[in-house]
Amino acid sequence: MHAHTVIIIGAGPTGLMLANLLGDAHVPCLLVERRTGLPAQSRAIGVSPPSLDLFASLDLAEPLIERGVPVRDAVVSNGRSEIGSLSFRDLPEPYRFILSVPQRDTMEILQDRLQTLTDIEYLRGTEFVDWAARGDGLEVILRDLGQQKEYRIEGARLVGCDGSHSSVRDSCRLESRYKRYGVSFFMADFKNGPDLGHRAVLFFTADGAVESFPLPDQTRRWIAQTDAGPDEVTRDDLVEQVRRRTGSDLSAADGSEVSWWQPERRLVRQWHSGPVLLCGDAAHVMSPIGGQGMNTGLADAEFAAHLVRRYLAGEDWEALCEGYERRRRRAFTAAANRAALGMWLGTRRGRTARPRDLFLKYVLLGRLGANRLPHHFAMWTIPHSRLAGERA
Ligand SMILES: Cc1cc2nc3c(=O)[nH]c(=O)nc-3n(C[C@H](O)[C@H](O)[C@H](O)COP(=O)(O)OP(=O)(O)OC[C@H]3O[C@@H](n4cnc5c(N)ncnc54)[C@H](O)[C@@H]3O)c2cc1C
Repeated sequence: MHAHTVIIIGAGPTGLMLANLLGDAHVPCLLVERRTGLPAQSRAIGVSPPSLDLFASLDLAEPLIERGVPVRDAVVSNGRSEIGSLSFRDLPEPYRFILSVPQRDTMEILQDRLQTLTDIEYLRGTEFVDWAARGDGLEVILRDLGQQKEYRIEGARLVGCDGSHSSVRDSCRLESRYKRYGVSFFMADFKNGPDLGHRAVLFFTADGAVESFPLPDQTRRWIAQTDAGPDEVTRDDLVEQVRRRTGSDLSAADGSEVSWWQPERRLVRQWHSGPVLLCGDAAHVMSPIGGQGMNTGLADAEFAAHLVRRYLAGEDWEALCEGYERRRRRAFTAAANRAALGMWLGTRRGRTARPRDLFLKYVLLGRLGANRLPHHFAMWTIPHSRLAGERA
């Protein structure tokens, strides 16, 4: 009998969700996280309705919604006039919106709930180093970062939720297919800037894309396409690009630190190896444009929790892992392809901007597309986007 049935590495959104779901099922787990506090920088902001459904199963949907802004409408503009719009108001009940909430809040809510779960032990300031098979289970080497001391613990199964640079993935020598997209962006959150209401506004202009999303506390996230490198971008550049492309003046607004990123796509060739399973960004990364990466990781966690419960009920681990991998690979591919297509369309510049605008206006945002697109953005059309009826 192992002290911890499941050892989870990484307390990002994916690992925290998995620990909550397994804790509810009384599966003894150890959750290991390198950080000692919550991350300062907020990456994901869009929480989709299937994820809200998952939070509701933990009684966390309401507290999360209270911390965020429900986005019910999105507008696409060419910087001078509106090309079209989308409404999420006809999505299935009860979540007729996409929630915009800082990733830090999403993580805090999940983290706080762990205190109520007696089967979960949460170790912070501790790093995963390596693992080795022991009988049907494994031995994991951890490093206490405060004391710089390594020690070993035993478990039955290990789940790597340790993000895109996953050490768990590397320790299993699981290779990934990887590519960097040829565009880059910089962004910051601005408080008390121009009032665009609770709408998401996508400016697809001939000079490049700017996207703007509402956040709580009179704040909006502004993201702009850029040709500059990571060390060249400043807050003033962002303010200037936004002004030139959209006419919005952010100069008097309080801005957070500017961050630069180049979207990438990564998919691990195999999602499991012996007693080890991967979830979230450890298995896959997609372009953040489209806001589906964290949501895909949360759905992985839901499937992984279900898998662990079935394994503990006596089903074959290997067969369960293969089913998980098949289903989650399809979900990732659908979400990543949509994110890539949306980013490609939005970043057309110069002479290619005009045909893009016409395509958006008459096809994607035309009568036919405008009925379907909200369901795509809400992730209701991702294959196996939820485990309906299989949660108990
Ligand atoms: C700019 C930007 C905007 C985004 N916007 C959205 C959005 O709107 N919606 C959306 O769905 N997604 C979005 N994403 C993607 C989203 O942020 C990620 O998909 C999500 O954070 C992945 O969660 P995770 O828990 O799998 O990994 P992570 O969040 O990376 O968490 C991994 C955790 O593991 C810990 N860790 C790593 N190595 C070790 C180790 N060896 N030992 C112990 N701990 C370790 C790390 O400290 C970290 O806490 C965005 C991403 C970016 C960059």
